[in-house]
Amino acid sequence: MTLEEIKAIPILDVAHSLGLNIKGRSAHCFAHQPDRHPSLVFNIQRNTFKCFVCPMIHGSVIDLIMQVRECDFKEAVEQLYSGKGKPIPWRSYALPSKPKAQKTRLSPEYKNMILKSLLQVAPLEQEGRHYLIERGITPETAMALGIGFLRPETYESLYKVLVSLHGRSALRSSGLGHFFLLAKEGLSFLLFPYRLENQIHLIKARCLLTKEEADTRKIRRFVASEPAKTLYNQDVIKSSSHLYLCEGEIDTLTMMQRGYPAIGIPGVSSFREEWFQLFSGKHLILCLDNDAAWEKASAWFYDRFSQHGITHSRFALPYGMDINQYFSEKEKLIGQIKCGSK
Ligand SMILES: [Zn+2]
Repeated sequence: MTLEEIKAIPILDVAHSLGLNIKGRSAHCFAHQPDRHPSLVFNIQRNTFKCFVCPMIHGSVIDLIMQVRECDFKEAVEQLYSGKGKPIPWRSYALPSKPKAQKTRLSPEYKNMILKSLLQVAPLEQEGRHYLIERGITPETAMALGIGFLRPETYESLYKVLVSLHGRSALRSSGLGHFFLLAKEGLSFLLFPYRLENQIHLIKARCLLTKEEADTRKIRRFVASEPAKTLYNQDVIKSSSHLYLCEGEIDTLTMMQRGYPAIGIPGVSSFREEWFQLFSGKHLILCLDNDAAWEKASAWFYDRFSQHGITHSRFALPYGMDINQYFSEKEKLIGQIKCGSK
């Protein structure tokens, strides 16, 4: 069987054998998740495939096997070739199952190095700086927390450079490929590193759309390189006996900048049980948005805090406000009073 013949084995049959979830002439991408609308598309005439989100995911039937299985060219060809010079009856042929745990597990040091190298070439630029200043976050605070900013085209070319330096498998494990979800929509995004003891554990990307804009376009505003196992600004825990728990990065930065020992938590649904022990012996002040979800979330937190012997209180916000809005409005008002009294 020649290479040309191997490359002519119907790609849908190969995809099927690889266990991809095929819908018509497309499938959910195996390289990025979540992929709600199948981004992997098959070109039957050319017998090729391509993911519209991941720039490195495309090619022939051989590439498909190499990329799904993370194997080399020789191995992929062997899987497609019966060895007897005859084409394999593909529909009845199931590929040997993929060995488990083939995904590269990066050491925390190596992952830190990859994530850091992206942030080093992602300066805030005017657009990112403007977005933060509008929310009262100064460039000095942003600098101290190592916040970065990327345009989609810059991200895509940097991603390719990182793949050439570290390999596709390491990059996939770093989780940086998830940001294609924003880049493919043509969106620029801010990068918030989650550090713990000087090591970056993950990066949260946030596009500059408002919640309403994102909802209309059905786009996620936030994408993390991996599910958070650390809290935002977690290092502050050891330095203070009382802590202000805020929702997300912007509220945390708002409080920090005003001298509060603040820490960023995700919502109730992704709050990890093991985090409670980090707060043992501390007094917590919950700074959650005062909206319809508040009652439910606070009841849940108060219940868990009591179980863990953590004392707590609430930073009372006017209804419908979050921390960032509260301080912006308050400081605007103070400014007006000062101007008026001059
Ligand atoms: Zn993809």
